[in-house]
Amino acid sequence: MPTSTRLAGHTLPDEGRIYRDGYRISNGPAVCSCGVESPSFCSDQGRRNWHRDVHKVGILAGGQG
Ligand SMILES: [Zn+2]
Repeated sequence: MPTSTRLAGHTLPDEGRIYRDGYRISNGPAVCSCGVESPSFCSDQGRRNWHRDVHKVGILAGGQG
């Protein structure tokens, strides 16, 4: 299995940064470009980790991520 983190159709907008009413916020879920929403995290890093370690790994394993 490649170690690349790229996976067609799955990108994390703004590297996990999220906004509400135009302001950047720290708490909340990210939404992958495929439409799957993450659990709520309190940091961009948490959202990035979810996308890389949970979501894409799940997709590669044949699931919904
Ligand atoms: Zn995705």
